[in-house]
Amino acid sequence: MGELTMECVRGDIAAQPDMDAIVNAANAALLPGGGVAGAIHRAAGPGLEQECRRLAPIRPGQAVITGAHRLPNRHVIHCLGPVYGVDIPSDELLAACYRNALRLAERQGLGSVAFPSISTGIFGYPMAEAAAVACNVLLAERAALKAVRHLRFVLFGEADLQLHQQALRQAAEQT
Ligand code: ADP
Repeated sequence: MGELTMECVRGDIAAQPDMDAIVNAANAALLPGGGVAGAIHRAAGPGLEQECRRLAPIRPGQAVITGAHRLPNRHVIHCLGPVYGVDIPSDELLAACYRNALRLAERQGLGSVAFPSISTGIFGYPMAEAAAVACNVLLAERAALKAVRHLRFVLFGEADLQLHQQALRQAAEQT
């Protein structure tokens, strides 16, 4: 899309060595936990948890940036997604996560950012709806990007991958 590459891949968000930043689907306390946060903290080592302690707690929709410690990236951007139907309006809070993460990356001059599907695990957001929110907001922000040139969605499953590819195509057609 112009000078911005957007792609969807299957894989592990904690194993994206070619990206400047990876995004963590964090919890409010920025602690390891399960899912994405567990995988990222395991790979980053205890230094990440220590750095996170100073920044917690965060609110739904908020994003904060840290170093990547033992991960092969330069930074980790931690977002707290909404618990679906509990933190409301959930769609606006989810969009705020992606927007705030992208703006932090841009401000830091980072060229590439990999996102997991925020809120679609224990926070219960339906995958297709979450994919549409994510693709729409990232595309809407694209005109404001100078440093960021490459965005990647990293999905665990084949069905999740296909939903994101579909949502990306639809969002691109509408813009
Ligand atoms: P949340 O608490 O925001 O719902 P989770 O970590 O529970 O976040 O899950 C978010 C999504 O990421 C889910 O769709 C889950 O299947 C997926 N996921 C879990 N672990 C990984 C991983 N290591 N890499 C990429 N995606 C993951």
